[in-house]
Amino acid sequence: MKITIIGAGPGGYETALEAAKKGIEVTLVSSGPVGGTCLNEGCIPTKALLRSAEVFETVKEAASYGVSAGEPSLDFAACMARKDAVVEQLRSGVEFLLKNKLITLLRGKASLLGGKSVKVALDEGGEVTVDSDYIIVATGSVSASLPIPGADLPGVITSKEMLSLEELPKSVCVIGAGVIGLEMASMLNSFGCSVSVLEYCPDILPRFDTDLAKRLKQILSKRGIKIETSAQVTSIEDTPEGLVTKYTRKEAECSVTAEKVLMAVGRRPNLASLELEEAGIAATPRGVVVDQYMQTSVPGIYAIGDITGGYMLAHVATFQGRRALNHILAGCPSEGPVDDIRLDVVPAAVFTRPEAACVGLTEDECKAGGIPVKVHKSFFRACGKAVAMGETDGFCKIVASEADGRILGCHLFGPHASDIIQEAAALITRGATVSDLQDTIHAHPTLTEVLLSAAGA
Ligand code: NAD
Repeated sequence: MKITIIGAGPGGYETALEAAKKGIEVTLVSSGPVGGTCLNEGCIPTKALLRSAEVFETVKEAASYGVSAGEPSLDFAACMARKDAVVEQLRSGVEFLLKNKLITLLRGKASLLGGKSVKVALDEGGEVTVDSDYIIVATGSVSASLPIPGADLPGVITSKEMLSLEELPKSVCVIGAGVIGLEMASMLNSFGCSVSVLEYCPDILPRFDTDLAKRLKQILSKRGIKIETSAQVTSIEDTPEGLVTKYTRKEAECSVTAEKVLMAVGRRPNLASLELEEAGIAATPRGVVVDQYMQTSVPGIYAIGDITGGYMLAHVATFQGRRALNHILAGCPSEGPVDDIRLDVVPAAVFTRPEAACVGLTEDECKAGGIPVKVHKSFFRACGKAVAMGETDGFCKIVASEADGRILGCHLFGPHASDIIQEAAALITRGATVSDLQDTIHAHPTLTEVLLSAAGA
């Protein structure tokens, strides 16, 4: 069996490795470095820089832990060099794994020719056509922008450019208080940059639990990040004082002046140059249309990850790839399950300081869906490990069905929320109840006890 996979991000390369393990011959086409957005210009470089920001903050607070370290200073170039080294180390790891005799890595741009043929314009020059039994499209997404005057000014940048700046800007105006906007705002603030955030919706992180978003906004504001919600950005102008971002809020005309403007208003599926129409694949501007098996409107052609426009998360792309592969291995049935993966139970994390994370339904979603729920809440200030760490901001909220105690959602913010959420994801995936959680011994003292306390509340 032969599969062609277009795109070598966490959707494409993980699926290629998994397919090769099953003895399938894979042609993997990559138009950029392997690892995609996540490894090269997204999750990994951001987390590497956030770690520098965390160390800087911790050293500043050292005296409160009884450690004298003097006044720390930040070497931004060294932070960036460390970030590059982290990315390089992981990228070479992926390249090594892909040196598999069943995987042929083609570097170039792929387009669909119809049937199961893919044309690849090779980076080294020339063109090849690859024929296979199945195709998996995993070309990811690109940053979205706003159709406003000044959006294309040189100082208006995306997260990709932010991650490769040579100098730390003195001030940044972030448009969008979603995941990218807040992670960047938190990092820049820790580095000592003056940060303003403008969000169109009434709350930050519109897809998160509203209590969580409100408390996180208070904490980030206390740290000195200026956050304006219900702000409609109208234009950006280049002036001698810097970039002036104009916005309306409650009918008032307002503005923020900053050295750089970070556009963080979402991402859109990367449909360009694939020639989807040529292959007869249905797509909307929101992404390629797929069924429960990740199969497009053309049998045997699958789409996974950001290009399908759902949750734009690396781990979702990876698991969608597994679903597609499982469907192929099961002989492409037209109905019935092909695995036990719950693609609707998606843990997500925001790496601000403190972190926020969620999985499953929010209280508001349950209300809107007419599901009666009981909400169980606990606070990090009552968790021994959090107090010992000196990181007591945050809470844990478990949303459970009132009828049978089944856990439907978990919403956290506080230290290591991104790690703690995984336990809730496992519980929800396996249909566990609040009493199942209460009956599970949790090691003491650990941050995961915040879940156990919530279950008992
Ligand atoms: P997002 O959808 O999370 O947030 C975009 C924000 O911009 C929203 O809050 C939206 O209301 C706001 N917005 C939209 N138009 C606006 C306007 N005109 N003025 C002001 N605000 C406006 O998108 P993102 O933060 O750009 O991230 C893109 C994708 O990447 C998301 O799907 C995200 O989940 C993913 N991502 C994930 C992680 C992570 O898992 N930690 C990190 C970074 C990015």
